[in-house]
Amino acid sequence: MSFLSAGLRLASEIGMDVGTGNTLVYVQGEGVVLNEPSVVAVERDTRAVRAVGLEAKRMLGRTSADLEAIRPLKDGVIADVDVAEIMIRHFLKRVTPAKLFRTKPRVVMGVPSGITGLERRAVRAAAAAAGTRELYMLAEPMAAAIGAGLPVDTPTGSMVVDIGGGTTEIAVIALGGIVADTSIRVAGDEMDQAIITFARKQYNMLIGEPTAEAVKIRIGSACDVGGEDGMEVRGRDLVSGIPKTAHVSASEIREAMSEPVAQIVEATLRALELTPPELASDIVDQGIMLTGGGALIRGLDRLLMERTGLPVHVDPEPLTCVVRGTAAVLEEFGRFQTALAA
Ligand code: ADP
Ligand code: MG
Repeated sequence: MSFLSAGLRLASEIGMDVGTGNTLVYVQGEGVVLNEPSVVAVERDTRAVRAVGLEAKRMLGRTSADLEAIRPLKDGVIADVDVAEIMIRHFLKRVTPAKLFRTKPRVVMGVPSGITGLERRAVRAAAAAAGTRELYMLAEPMAAAIGAGLPVDTPTGSMVVDIGGGTTEIAVIALGGIVADTSIRVAGDEMDQAIITFARKQYNMLIGEPTAEAVKIRIGSACDVGGEDGMEVRGRDLVSGIPKTAHVSASEIREAMSEPVAQIVEATLRALELTPPELASDIVDQGIMLTGGGALIRGLDRLLMERTGLPVHVDPEPLTCVVRGTAAVLEEFGRFQTALAA
């Protein structure tokens, strides 16, 4: 390696996926170096930040009266701008230790496609405060499509359905741009809420969000794919207040989460209706790509295939599509220029 290229390597390039559920950071030459929940724990009175990321998520639902765990991007757009700024700055700082002679990093960040001007400014302020040289924002579904290896810069139309925690973003992409997109605030979190409601109604039992999420991941499904199991769920009896256990079946949980699942299917069908005919015919050939953590729901691909009549693919690593997309953009900056907003 020549002196010059060694110097350039120090100018670290960073790709970042600030999701409603999880934040992932890629550093060029190092890979994905950070993958933590998008959660910040603050003191209720002073608003002082006590923890960020994994440590803060562990406090969710277990916080004492004086601590509050905030998910600043809960609904896909930044609900709590100040806390979002603190969180982004914290994660960026963590991966860029102040090293002598280290050039300020260039950052490509995946952001929700519905981000407002105010939110953009918050993201920009956070990046600047963390010592970023240049910041480029990339719409999340575009990043997800690039990460999943879809031919986004060709005339062929591609469709991606990115199911995260707070939002599902659906986009049709061709020639490096988003041709049609739909975003709904229904995704993994809504499924967790539906399971909480089910436990309350069916078993008179109060369960927390982490428990509901664990049930969804372990036995949740969108249609019957066979080999189903039930599980023991622990919570608190609504009447007596005493801890109790209930045995829930996979089919009960499927029924419980069927409403949010149906909304995702409906949104996909709507997006297909909005797709220009030429691109629609490409999608008939190429199919739909599912990304985001929600793509891991058992049987969701089959349900979507049945309802749309189209081939449906799931990326092998759906949780990292967006951050891998930002990494690909850093590697081939020129190729994806049209997809970026400076
Ligand atoms: P975001 O981009 O909004 O941060 P992610 O793509 O990280 O979201 O996905 C987070 C969502 O995926 C959460 O609702 C989480 O519960 C869900 N999830 C993660 N793994 C699985 C799994 N194996 N099965 C079902 N859902 C999952
Ligand atoms: Mg995401």
